[in-house]
Amino acid sequence: MSKSYDTHEFYCIKCGQKNISLQRKVNHKHAKHHMKKLWCWHCKEEMNCVECKNDEEVKEFKNNFLAGKYLKEVERSTRITQKEQLVWAQ
Ligand SMILES: [Zn+2]
Repeated sequence: MSKSYDTHEFYCIKCGQKNISLQRKVNHKHAKHHMKKLWCWHCKEEMNCVECKNDEEVKEFKNNFLAGKYLKEVERSTRITQKEQLVWAQ
């Protein structure tokens, strides 16, 4: 049996929770752990989310998350948002 679509899951780099799932074509080419900015319901803000194509990548993401690999990226995303808000405060 062949299927032409896979379900890819996105995990928030700030809280590590599962965000949305997207249907992607099986031959859809992206680098592993592709990041996409999505609204996270847990964090209540837009945050980069890591795309996981299979259980293996989910496991890798969780290991990276627990190891603090995304902390810098979270900090960077948060700082950009604060800077945008500061422009109006000055
Ligand atoms: Zn989150």
